[in-house]
Amino acid sequence: MTARILKTAKIKITTKCNRDCAFCIFANGARGDNMPLDLFSTILDRLRSIPFQQLHINGGEPTVHRDFPALSRLARTRLPETVMVLGTNAITLTRNQRLMATTVECYDQILIGCDDEHGNYEQVEVVVPELRRAGKTVVVNSVLEAIDEPRRTRLARLCARYGAVHVTNHVHHIDVGQPVNRLDGLCARYLDQHLMIELDGSCYRCFNAMAKEDSEFSVWDRDFAAKVFAPRSEHYNFCLRCHEYTDSGAPVVPVER
Ligand code: SF4
Repeated sequence: MTARILKTAKIKITTKCNRDCAFCIFANGARGDNMPLDLFSTILDRLRSIPFQQLHINGGEPTVHRDFPALSRLARTRLPETVMVLGTNAITLTRNQRLMATTVECYDQILIGCDDEHGNYEQVEVVVPELRRAGKTVVVNSVLEAIDEPRRTRLARLCARYGAVHVTNHVHHIDVGQPVNRLDGLCARYLDQHLMIELDGSCYRCFNAMAKEDSEFSVWDRDFAAKVFAPRSEHYNFCLRCHEYTDSGAPVVPVER
């Protein structure tokens, strides 16, 4: 048996966004809230107490957080060995040199959502070459329901030309009246060792879980580190409607594997 290592910790630093994508359940446009700097600092302290590999900074649109440069530098300084990943629509990066400089300084990988909903084709054409010139890993992700073939081909060509990666996926985190899942074993995604930390410090061991009342624990818990790796045998309420449910066959999250 080997000790468990968290693959990814994702911190949602804001629910604000400069776009209003129809399929997005994670942001409230301009009406959202920002995570306070002191809570972000507490989360970094907690994360330093557990083994993990990648820190994702997400939102909402994280670059619209007014303290995005300070938060990014704090994370980079406190977690020098951790791979830092930014999830963004890249719109601000073309308008604001300071935000672009922060991104280049602090992040190793940039994940960019790009399709009709994000409405950011022009900006992506600008930032992909710039980020690749700076030596960053760049992944452009398009939701298939929101992009046509010519656009998709053009994006794929752009990425191929500059050594970025273009991926596509279906909208998966939205209830569109589909039949409920028959939930047997725990979801394979749940076992995959990702931790999402919400704006209020509540934690989910899955990136797709989003029902606030369904949080398992929070960063305020003294035994946070133990809870990240604690066994669990229940589904989230949201798993009933989740498009990504796949039966792992496991009845419980193992303590070690
Ligand atoms: S069914 Fe969906 S919400 Fe539930 S653990 Fe799997 S991916 Fe996460």
